[in-house]
Amino acid sequence: MKKIKKILIANRSEIVSRINATCKSLDIKTVAIYSPEDKFLKYIFQTDERYPLSKNGYTAYLNQDEIIEIAIKTQADAIHPGYGFLSENYEFAQKVIDAGILWIGPAPETIKLMGNKICARNILSQTEVPVVPGFYLTELNYEIFEKIKKEIGYPIILKDPNGGGGKAIKIINSQQELQNYFYLIKEEVKKLTGSQELLLEKYIQNGKHIEIQIAGDSKNFVHFYERDCSIQRRHQKIIEETPCNFIATNILEKMYDMAILTARTINYKNIGTVEFIVTQDRDTLDTKFYFLEVNTRLQVEHSVTEMTTDIDLVALQIEIAQTDFLKYKQEEISRKNHAIECRIYAENPDNNFMPCTGQVINLNIPQDPFLRIDHNLQEDQEINSFFDPMIAKVTVVGQDRDCAISKMLYVLEQFNISGIQTNINFLKKILKTEKFLTGDFDTQSNLSCDLSPVAIKAEREREITIAQIAANLFQEIINKKNNFKKNKNTNNNWRNQLWE
Ligand code: ADP
Ligand code: ADP
Ligand code: MG
Repeated sequence: MKKIKKILIANRSEIVSRINATCKSLDIKTVAIYSPEDKFLKYIFQTDERYPLSKNGYTAYLNQDEIIEIAIKTQADAIHPGYGFLSENYEFAQKVIDAGILWIGPAPETIKLMGNKICARNILSQTEVPVVPGFYLTELNYEIFEKIKKEIGYPIILKDPNGGGGKAIKIINSQQELQNYFYLIKEEVKKLTGSQELLLEKYIQNGKHIEIQIAGDSKNFVHFYERDCSIQRRHQKIIEETPCNFIATNILEKMYDMAILTARTINYKNIGTVEFIVTQDRDTLDTKFYFLEVNTRLQVEHSVTEMTTDIDLVALQIEIAQTDFLKYKQEEISRKNHAIECRIYAENPDNNFMPCTGQVINLNIPQDPFLRIDHNLQEDQEINSFFDPMIAKVTVVGQDRDCAISKMLYVLEQFNISGIQTNINFLKKILKTEKFLTGDFDTQSNLSCDLSPVAIKAEREREITIAQIAANLFQEIINKKNNFKKNKNTNNNWRNQLWE
């Protein structure tokens, strides 16, 4: 086994800082890459080395050969792809391996099989893992209409089999709608990923998106519990949390088993996520859940799992890649507290969530022990339109869900950024809705967010609690100061000065 001494991080911005922090804790050197637009970003100066890319914008980070060349030139032992960009590109993973560099992720073959949703469904349909009824198609005809009527029923959902990030997804309520939209979606899919086929699935109405974090070394497999990612906009997650308090424990346990079975079926090596959709009648024994897809990479929302299990998932990725061995047994993985993540986007909620550009001014990023903010923001920074508009991820941990919500609201209140528009107020509104507070939300929830009477009452109670904490702290300081004056020790001048 060759020890990893240097890792090239094939990504940009906050996720590079995140991976870099773990590398530093493991005494591993790091190499960053950057496009011309990113040359002033903080992440570049946090790594040990940095190399410019020749192309502009998004395409710079997709230039496989150039990235591998830099890895060879800098004598990096391994490449970590982060998320997005090349993280689920099996050809890149194979090229990295062929260049004699360690790939921090699952085998290229696994990425390929799971990267196509039709293929993933076919493999898992042969097991006990429940898969949403569906099939793939290239054209519309009478047989298809009959098949939908007999085997599935409306509504249905059309998807790009090779897609991701909630793109090119359409919910269809009738045969007429299918006829209206099929060829439009097909065209969109062809442009996005080149796929000629579409995946058609039964649409699970008012479903919850629950995903299970897994890890494996192709022999031993473990899970790190669930994440509830049901607060979505345009099929993309915006708030994620763990645990999910609104699904019966025995159903969650079945989901853990099915996630492990998925990992075992595909001989999974490294960490990954198995996504499921859970039917509407939750918290009962009749609740059903269905496999959606496997994400063969680290996920944006990994922070909530890390903050409740106390396990560094990036360190685990590096360790499995290096040793081919998963050191955990299931009984060694426990979870405590409740964590919530909010994704902060540079966008305008009042203008159909259009991504926004501008220069960051008056930046105030709160800090607290219960809080983790993954970001790469700095004052005067230009936010441009070349990249994903996600600019920060805020994760808080509290002893229970209510406590975590209060803390998140408190942090979002303190999070100050001007010069660009963000979704911060929109997130605060969601967190205060009755639906969110009571857990009565799903992937279809209307996030228009009127403040409910319950939410207003809860907010008042929170304000009172915060005021009480502040008053208690103040009293404590006064008492200490008075005590100190009483027992003043003239030999300790530096301490005296502190209180006077
Ligand atoms: P999914 O939505 O596929 O389940 P995630 O929720 O983990 O997966 O989100 C992955 C998304 O994160 C990508 O589709 C992309 O939009 C976004 N992304 C990728 N890389 C970055 C990055 N460096 N900074 C911000 N966002 C990114
Ligand atoms: P992506 O690769 O874009 O993440 P997914 O298949 O994971 O694609 O779907 C994205 C989102 O779309 C899910 O989180 C869920 O909200 C919704 N969705 C997808 N398939 C279904 C389905 N069959 N029934 C209900 N909702 C679905
Ligand atoms: Mg998904």
